[in-house]
Amino acid sequence: MGAEVQHVPGAIYCVGRNFVAHVRELGNTVPGQPVIFLKAPTSVRGLQPAPMAFPTETYSHELELVLRLGRGVPLGAAAGWTDVDAVTLGIDVTRREVQNQCKEARLPWTPSKSFAGSAVLGPFVPTHARAPGPIAFSLTVGGELRQQADTARMIFDVPTVLTHIASLGPLRPGDLVFTGTPQGVGPLSVGESFELVLQLPDETIRMPGVL
Ligand code: MG
Repeated sequence: MGAEVQHVPGAIYCVGRNFVAHVRELGNTVPGQPVIFLKAPTSVRGLQPAPMAFPTETYSHELELVLRLGRGVPLGAAAGWTDVDAVTLGIDVTRREVQNQCKEARLPWTPSKSFAGSAVLGPFVPTHARAPGPIAFSLTVGGELRQQADTARMIFDVPTVLTHIASLGPLRPGDLVFTGTPQGVGPLSVGESFELVLQLPDETIRMPGVL
């Protein structure tokens, strides 16, 4: 297992609407290309309690597979698992009401997605620039299973997502990509316990945490 989060990454790209059942649960339409947004690097925190902006709000949890770039990808180049050096699970902590207000006002989502503590990250697991095969992942909150998915159900797979992001600009080593949440998003408050479970073909890694 990799080390706990120790560095501030460069860019944190996030994919929206990458699982059909989640697109439907929020009343959105299935996109024709990946929906990309950003979190500030200062959004990152680990699995143990850490300062959160808006600590008294009830957030919405979005379980996601997170990729770490192991090497740079030039602008416009095809990218894929060979450019990824590690994976982990994360929670895209979301202020859903604020996001809905932003959508209604046709304003950027940033205040709902990028704030201190909004990018929860487990320890990174090396993938050694190889495709790891199917990955299953789940989130329990207070012992209750909330979200469960696998990479085969992504609308846009990892190479498609990375290549799309590289069409916007070069990727750099250490950049992170949140690859989208499956259905089952729900409430999560400061102090609540959760467990992320990452199932690689040859290894299951449990990552307990507290928001
Ligand atoms: Mg998300």
